[in-house]
Amino acid sequence: MKPVECEFESEVLAAVLQSRWPERVDSSLRAHVAACAVCSDVAAIAGAVDDAREQMRDDAVIPDSGRVWWLAQMRARREAARTAGRPITAVQVIALACAVGLLGACFGATSKWFQSALGSIASSVSAFEMTALLAEHGALVLATAAVLLLVPAAVYLAMLRD
Ligand SMILES: [Zn+2]
Repeated sequence: MKPVECEFESEVLAAVLQSRWPERVDSSLRAHVAACAVCSDVAAIAGAVDDAREQMRDDAVIPDSGRVWWLAQMRARREAARTAGRPITAVQVIALACAVGLLGACFGATSKWFQSALGSIASSVSAFEMTALLAEHGALVLATAAVLLLVPAAVYLAMLRD
């Protein structure tokens, strides 16, 4: 039966992992490994694992210190920009709230006219009456339209610039 353990096994393993195998070990150990199935297996497997480890170390790309420093600088700059950008965002939120409030106020001011216009349409007034109504409130309609168009556009542009 093939032996599964050998007293020199750990010695061979240590020699291979310390890169002493096969040149810098006792000739008696070399002779034993050549004759012993367990120790020759250990030497072959440990040697393969060690080679793979060496290969991985060669393949691993370690960034040089200059690149690491540059990346740290970029990161710091990005974070500083983000911190500086925060008040702008707050201002934009306030602007948006003001715009919404302004829209609400405009709608409130025109709602009376709006309702009367709706009522006029509902009671199917003549074209002449509608024209008269529009002419009467023309300035208010124009102002409301301008606010409705300009405020969202301004907010949109402010958001784009961010
Ligand atoms: Zn052995």
